Amino acid sequence: MIWAKEETFSRDEIKRIQVEKLREVVKRVYENVPFYRKKLLQAGIKPENIQSIEDVRLLPLTTKDDLRDNYPYGLFAVPMDEIVRVHASSGTTGKPTVVGYTAQDIESWTELVARIVTCAGVTKSDVVQIAFGYGMFTGAFGLHYGVERVGATVVPASSGNTEKQLLFMRDFGTTVLVSTPSYALYLAEVAQKMGIMKDLKVRLGLFGGEGCSEEVRKELEKQWGMVATDNYGLSELIGPGVSGECHLKDGLHINEDHFLVEVLDPKTLEPVKEGENGELVVTTLTKEGLPLLRYRTRDIASVTYEKCACGRTTARMSKVSGRTDDMLIIRGVNVFPSQVESVLLDTEGVTPHYQLVVTRRGALDNLEVKIEVTEEFSKSADRKRWKSLKEDIERKLSVILSLKAHVTLAAPSTLERFQGKARRVVDLREAI
Ligand SMILES: [Zn+2]
Repeated sequence: MIWAKEETFSRDEIKRIQVEKLREVVKRVYENVPFYRKKLLQAGIKPENIQSIEDVRLLPLTTKDDLRDNYPYGLFAVPMDEIVRVHASSGTTGKPTVVGYTAQDIESWTELVARIVTCAGVTKSDVVQIAFGYGMFTGAFGLHYGVERVGATVVPASSGNTEKQLLFMRDFGTTVLVSTPSYALYLAEVAQKMGIMKDLKVRLGLFGGEGCSEEVRKELEKQWGMVATDNYGLSELIGPGVSGECHLKDGLHINEDHFLVEVLDPKTLEPVKEGENGELVVTTLTKEGLPLLRYRTRDIASVTYEKCACGRTTARMSKVSGRTDDMLIIRGVNVFPSQVESVLLDTEGVTPHYQLVVTRRGALDNLEVKIEVTEEFSKSADRKRWKSLKEDIERKLSVILSLKAHVTLAAPSTLERFQGKARRVVDLREAI
């Protein structure tokens, strides 16, 4: 089922709507947000200069730092009287970023989430358990209202309390789970231990809040016997509801009548070709409380405009494959730790413990990938197998990275361990 007619508009119709709304949002921020007014004046741009979608490139970019610098309400485009809700995302450093919603923003948000949950396959017959934390984070409330709009039954379980959560799931006949992929894996582990997995009826998962690789998806589908779908949103933009997968799981349908998505080379800020990876840069076309022009998401993905077999005509983005913050440029090639990780997850005999070491000899960058082998491999393998494993990984890496990396296999438990976020990259190029 398709929730809204806008999801099946022709490309010309979508473009027409986007240009019209783009002009309106530029007018709104020009008139109401001093930060943007100043930037637009500096760039010599007036709302009436926006004549086509391509004209979006005339507009200034917005970064997370801009939101922090204007903490808490400096970028809001309406008086506080009109704001009916705020959410905030906690950064790992510095001040949180705050988003404000008008009543109309909440209404749009509800409709957009209704679209993506319908797109994933939720119907009014479902019992949907929301295991995101209810609070300042946008995930739980965003999904909550959208699922209710569809007419399904919401179980607002929130996060944590894992055993109780699983008992709700069994007793209430939960058919759809909404959570982060990592929490869903943990829930599966506990359900197995409690011996109740066989009593659960979860058939569909809607995952978001963090990246979900194809490998993690396969694992979730195996553990739960469910269809696992990915959806995408950022609190700065609205929360969940920017895009989501249909049952074909071939890219996330973007709600293009509300979000104009560009894919830019993060270095040059020029658009990349259709289907190529780059940074997602998003303009909110309808937000009233906190409209953002060309927001740099730091997320890396690609976009295709090919029509999907499900009948929707909206552009589809790939899963997010990495963050620009993690990107390395080696011999002019963009390299992400997540690409290395995908090779390791697909290779027998190695663990996900790895480190990338970049050095420079003369003018040439050198990438070394240190990888720990498993206990089992280390005990049983002879010299020949070590050599062939190393060569096998080097071959796979050269395909996925488009450059040659040198692999060093390390004995189990020899690479440095990290509390929290791992330090995957050691870049020694500056130091040499
Ligand atoms: Zn589709």
